[in-house]
Amino acid sequence: MGDYPDRMENFEGEPVAPETEVSESNAAVPARLLPVAELHLHIEGTLQPELIFALAERNGITLPYADLDELRQRYEFTDLQSFLDLYYANMAVLQTEEDFAAMTHAYLERAAAAGVRHAEIMLDPQAHLSRGISLETCVNGVASVLATSMEDFGMSTMLIAAFLRDLPEESALEVLDALLAMDAPIGAIGLDSAEVGNPPAKFERLYAKAREAGLRLTAHAGEEGPASYVVEALDVLGVERIDHGIRCMDDTDLVERLVDERIPLTVCPLSNVRLRTVDTLADHPLPAMLAAGLNVSVNSDDPAYFGGYVDDNFAQLEAVFELSEFDKARLAANSIHSSFASEERKAELLEELNSGELAH
Ligand SMILES: [Zn+2]
Repeated sequence: MGDYPDRMENFEGEPVAPETEVSESNAAVPARLLPVAELHLHIEGTLQPELIFALAERNGITLPYADLDELRQRYEFTDLQSFLDLYYANMAVLQTEEDFAAMTHAYLERAAAAGVRHAEIMLDPQAHLSRGISLETCVNGVASVLATSMEDFGMSTMLIAAFLRDLPEESALEVLDALLAMDAPIGAIGLDSAEVGNPPAKFERLYAKAREAGLRLTAHAGEEGPASYVVEALDVLGVERIDHGIRCMDDTDLVERLVDERIPLTVCPLSNVRLRTVDTLADHPLPAMLAAGLNVSVNSDDPAYFGGYVDDNFAQLEAVFELSEFDKARLAANSIHSSFASEERKAELLEELNSGELAH
């Protein structure tokens, strides 16, 4: 707890004094939404069961589930791999640009209702290329919707090309080359999928190339993998942000470093529970991470699979941990500061967060 208050300069300007009174005009709206940035989100993980069935019908695909209930029953996972198996199987319904656009539109609409004002969205091109879907189809389908996210949903967005760490680096390099050649509208790269046994150092050349191309850098590390993967992602890949990172709590030296360097950790509480990284939400290290002064934010990861979007994550955290208004505002401010948005956009969102006009 020692230097916890020192971290408050994170907010910039006046300390956050969130407005808790609900005015007459919006008293009917039950929850107060904080403006947040969602930084850890896989667009394929937003595919809701209803949309899976609708797209399957549109594309003449026979699903291995009789109905929605049977599909929903498969959402009991024992670990990361058991989730990934279902996740990749469901992607079969994504065939055309319109399918990718429909999925993206549905996410933006739901995220906007959750208070998300800036979203950095990961797409796994290799998961589609391996099914015979072209890079143009998946990238353009998602990007076509992101292009008007500000007008349509008041949400700024960035597309992140994420690479599957269980595939060879050579494959990732080929895809990155192709993305750069087609001048794909990506702002960053990420690294996801099966973590254990696929350490960050495997992708050193990929990250060097992306950095050279002017892309921002993030990677999953310390979800199921050890704290040493977090160190490797920072030192070997040079990432600016760590996705998950909860296992850093096993290494006090690493925690000290992450605090000192203000490295953002995009934490996904409901995902960690569903994938059994923690037994229950009450066992989640988020409160300890906040107390340690770590730069943590709350994200939904694969919300269709893990029981909820950003607002659901906040609601369940509040129910279990009695997060204070101050903690919630701090998490929101961290998400904005940790984003790859322009300084101008960050200032706009921080002003909104600090404005006291949040009761809505
Ligand atoms: Zn993830």
